[in-house]
Amino acid sequence: MKVLLTVEEMRDFRAGQLHSPLGFVPTMGNLHEGHLSLVRLARRESRSVVVSVYVNPTQFNDPQDLAGYPCTWDEDLRLLEDLQVDGVFLPTDDVMYPRGCSTTVKPSEVATRWEGECRPGHFEGICTVVAKLLGIVQPDVAYFGEKDYQQLQVVRAMVSDLNLPVTIRCGETIREADGLALSSRNSLLSPDQRARAPRLKQALDCLRKAIRTGRDAAAALDTERSALTAAGFQVDYLVLVDGTSLKPITTPKEGAYLLVAARIGAVRLIDNYAL
Ligand code: AMP
Repeated sequence: MKVLLTVEEMRDFRAGQLHSPLGFVPTMGNLHEGHLSLVRLARRESRSVVVSVYVNPTQFNDPQDLAGYPCTWDEDLRLLEDLQVDGVFLPTDDVMYPRGCSTTVKPSEVATRWEGECRPGHFEGICTVVAKLLGIVQPDVAYFGEKDYQQLQVVRAMVSDLNLPVTIRCGETIREADGLALSSRNSLLSPDQRARAPRLKQALDCLRKAIRTGRDAAAALDTERSALTAAGFQVDYLVLVDGTSLKPITTPKEGAYLLVAARIGAVRLIDNYAL
């Protein structure tokens, strides 16, 4: 496994050592089974696999969130080596955003709601860094987790709207045994918060069952929002949406999704579920 530190190194490696189809998994490191499942999917589907590990500052709207983001490079590289990844792109901020680099990608309308509203600038940062990474690594296929459902839709819209020559593939959400979606932020939960965190997925399960068996969606969402608040969560949103446009809907339909974002203490968790 080769570690590539600069754009030139990555480009030379792509041209000289890698085979098509090249699968690419962008990550911010602190790798867990969610990331590794995407790498395994890429390994199964592509001849060569590159993973990037880069904590992109421009997608963080909260400086404290960025400062506290866990960094575990040695362990990450060991895990990726075990999965027979061909190359790891590990750029610094200076490599990704050299002096004078000021072009950004304005995300599509899909980015305006939910995470876009709660985290101003987040999706512009995501689109810009993903567009740059795709330009540097030049993969045939790029893999994203369904865990970050709005991010997946925003990236799909960008790739389609900008005619980028890459296929976007999605990997299912990997969860702990108690249902909590794996996330690098889970390590920031106190034992008490960790014990309460699976309630988020339970809310989605309850809603799915209620709405599928004919309960009014708005009423069911209200009930679960109150139940989460009573359980100690600050709910940013809990909504039923069209799975492509992410616009809220009031009656269930094919391809609908439930999306939730809530905070326990200082830790913000997101999750989603297909209805
Ligand atoms: P991150 O390092 O948080 O930027 O995540 C890198 C990729 O891993 C993104 O495409 C995420 O959607 C994906 N990912 C994160 N958590 C999970 C999970 N629990 N299951 C599946 N994919 C995930």
